[in-house]
Amino acid sequence: MKELLVDLGKNSYNIEIQKGLIKDVSKSVRKVFNGEKIFIITDKNVDKFYGDIVLNSLKKDGFNVDKYAVEPGEESKSFNTLPLIYDKLLDFKLTRKDLIITLGGGVVGDLGGFIAATFLRGVSFIQIPTTLLSQVDSSVGGKVGVDLDRGKNLVGSFYQPKRVIIDPNVLNTLEDKFYKDGMGEVIKYGFIKDKNLYILLNSLNNREDVMEHIEGIIYTCCNIKREIVEKDEKDLGERMVLNFGHTLGHAIEKHYGFSKFTHGEGVSIGMYLITRLAEKKGLTNEILSDKVKEILIRYGLPYNVEINDMEDIIETISLDKKNMGSTLKIIIMKEIGNAKIYNTTVDFFR
Ligand code: NAD
Repeated sequence: MKELLVDLGKNSYNIEIQKGLIKDVSKSVRKVFNGEKIFIITDKNVDKFYGDIVLNSLKKDGFNVDKYAVEPGEESKSFNTLPLIYDKLLDFKLTRKDLIITLGGGVVGDLGGFIAATFLRGVSFIQIPTTLLSQVDSSVGGKVGVDLDRGKNLVGSFYQPKRVIIDPNVLNTLEDKFYKDGMGEVIKYGFIKDKNLYILLNSLNNREDVMEHIEGIIYTCCNIKREIVEKDEKDLGERMVLNFGHTLGHAIEKHYGFSKFTHGEGVSIGMYLITRLAEKKGLTNEILSDKVKEILIRYGLPYNVEINDMEDIIETISLDKKNMGSTLKIIIMKEIGNAKIYNTTVDFFR
């Protein structure tokens, strides 16, 4: 068992990582919850594989448990889903002394976490992330929220879970495209903070190899995120380095109508292009873009794209910029394992 403490004063919590953990999940839950009722929020794919395993483990241990599964996908992480689930919680007569468990990827974690943060002004919750992206990123750090019709993550809160329970074995049922998406984020951690992680990833040849090292890989990523979140819980400074490749990646995703590239693919392209730009401007300490390219190819991720209309991309980036004041803050890698916030303007991209 690998375990990490996210030290946030009275909002501190542990992350447990172990293959097979989900089968006996009640044991982990008991460590932080001794109440009566538990409501599980999941999605229909995850429910099919793991819903009853979690439900039965908890019921066997004497908890009164109910469960609701939303449709899989980002569409469910919507403001419009909220009343439906609040109703289920009311039907179940969940009180502030009870517990919510989110069982799923980032969609379920963000949605269920926001429900936990807001129902009855806050109910305790535990995250059981089931995608690689949620195991290395979204389940840690307390960002919860939902999308509005006019944009993603526009309503939300910082609300820390009581525990994060990670069973890497559940990744065995994850579709390859979601596995790759998560690998984009894992590679990012190597680039921004950990050269040894990069070296390890560069020595693995396929998904089976990765799964052999998966506990250590997830631990390393969560530990990096833990360290950053402890210093900057509310995302006002250092937490920004986690956005390496994201601003440009997001603009590219948007440029292509969110249909051509997944989030992880957008981030991968963003990491490569920003590194190439930084290199051209002499901001990196070594020739890095070829290394970025090589590892992305190794993991079946894209690195480049034909951009016919750079001004459209810049427009999206400058809309982001408005949220941050007059300067544009971008993340660049100085060398592998060392990324920094760099103050510039949108002209950086011209
Ligand atoms: P997701 O939750 O939609 O999961 C992807 C797909 O995998 C879904 O179809 C799901 O049903 C399926 N799935 C999940 N676990 C599975 C398993 N073990 N076996 C088989 N299928 C499984 O997507 P995601 O990539 O996990 O999360 C994306 C969301 O995360 C976005 O909404 C994004 O905004 C959010 N996010 C949040 C943070 C944060 O800090 N809160 C950080 C990054 C991303």
